[in-house]
Amino acid sequence: MIRTLLSAALGAALVATPASAQDAAADLETAAAAWVQPSNAERFRVLTEQLTAAGLDYEVQAFEGGNGRTGPLEGRNVVVTIGRGPVDIVLTAHYDAVPLEGGFSQGIVDNAGSVLAMMQAAVRLRETSAAEPFPYRYVFVFTDQEELGLIGARKWLESADRSRIAAVINADVAAYGDTVMYGENNGEQSAGLLRALRLQCAERAVTCVGFPVYPPSDDRVFSAAGLPVLSLGTQDAIGAHQMWLAFNGGETPGLREGFVPPVFQRIHSTGDVLDLFEGEDVARFGAFIADLALRIAIDHAAGG
Ligand SMILES: [Zn+2]
Repeated sequence: MIRTLLSAALGAALVATPASAQDAAADLETAAAAWVQPSNAERFRVLTEQLTAAGLDYEVQAFEGGNGRTGPLEGRNVVVTIGRGPVDIVLTAHYDAVPLEGGFSQGIVDNAGSVLAMMQAAVRLRETSAAEPFPYRYVFVFTDQEELGLIGARKWLESADRSRIAAVINADVAAYGDTVMYGENNGEQSAGLLRALRLQCAERAVTCVGFPVYPPSDDRVFSAAGLPVLSLGTQDAIGAHQMWLAFNGGETPGLREGFVPPVFQRIHSTGDVLDLFEGEDVARFGAFIADLALRIAIDHAAGG
């Protein structure tokens, strides 16, 4: 019964009018522009202001972070909890960007795009949870200091009740493109989540590319702790395939000598800029994440 009701709610939620889809994309472009900032302190301000504007209550968790390079440095994770119940689906995206020699990355692809997609997902799950209460919490953790060594995620998990966590979905590198990339290297415990993801890709006719080797992000903190976790990103189709080859093509990837996939020329550089941001793609990805989280909750409730 729960499944039927939720499926109906999910179906209704998927029917967006073209006008509202265009509005959402335009709003996201405006929101993305605010992320061009000179420091992570400013990015924190933008994040909390945008959460407030979206009506999403948040909690700030300060921690002692930093690494050998920075020395001790206070960090701040920002947590938004949707719904209530004894089981958590955790959704993570880091909001910090990389300080560069003589400047600061705009950090749009890495990782304002994912943060904005997660905010979209939170709003969507709030609507779904209100329409059809379901005893699961969606805990969005916007992490700090990922770029310093996954520090924010580690600090959050240290203080979290792990026994509540059924699944973790991480998003990193997502500001454009309709191809969803995902890692297949987060342990046996993540097999059920991979199945749910692949089913959703098939049912929605979304092109999803699985990476046996996928670059690390905050997901590694959770898989190292034995928790089931998915790590997702988006790109255009060609970029996703080039990246797949670079990481998984072995000795003869078919890429020309010295070829660096465009996304790796962009992130962690002055090339990760606002111009790359595509509101429509990020809106679509946000909806995809929300529906995936709901699907995983339903599967979990059914004992899957
Ligand atoms: Zn990143």
